[in-house]
Amino acid sequence: RTGFVAIVGRPNVGKSTLLNRLIGQKISIVSRKAQTTRHRVTGILTREDSQFVFVDTPGFQTKHRNALNRSMNRTVSQVLGDVDLVFFVIEAGRFGEDDRKVVEVLPKEAKVVLVINKVDRLADKSQLLPFIARVSEVFPFTEIVPLSAERGTNVDALFKAATPLL
Ligand code: GDP
Ligand code: MG
Repeated sequence: RTGFVAIVGRPNVGKSTLLNRLIGQKISIVSRKAQTTRHRVTGILTREDSQFVFVDTPGFQTKHRNALNRSMNRTVSQVLGDVDLVFFVIEAGRFGEDDRKVVEVLPKEAKVVLVINKVDRLADKSQLLPFIARVSEVFPFTEIVPLSAERGTNVDALFKAATPLL
């Protein structure tokens, strides 16, 4: 099995951290500042049973309309135009207008895995289920995987969910 996977989401949710974790190398710049990833970054992972081509994208911008933001959003749309699978990344406990705007550009026919990142930050884990219930109303996600890209927690579950979808 082989396939292209786009990693999308608003700025700062941890898309680049996730790419680095998935391929086990620091190829994409991680920063506390938004807009660090301005172009697509591709990482290829060959496993026993599958090959993933991950494409990290700039955070989808909704706040300011300027040339850089327009160009970054264009990159996101182009990447979404020809992928087999999408990892839509959000932050645990936070789903706002800027996340919703990204949902609007997800291709309706695409297989989308909702990646709930930064679960290590959740003080109260019982918040997770109601949060998942709320967010899953906005799109028919194929799979939902809570994880911590920074710590590596539950990243194996993401591979498990994604491999049959390639
Ligand atoms: P991007 O803009 O979506 O690519 O986000 P980055 O990967 O650059 O990460 C943004 C910030 O979130 C950085 O300060 C990361 O260290 C932090 N971060 C990413 N993943 C996690 C996580 O799983 N847990 C926590 N606590 N922080 C994270
Ligand atoms: Mg990034």
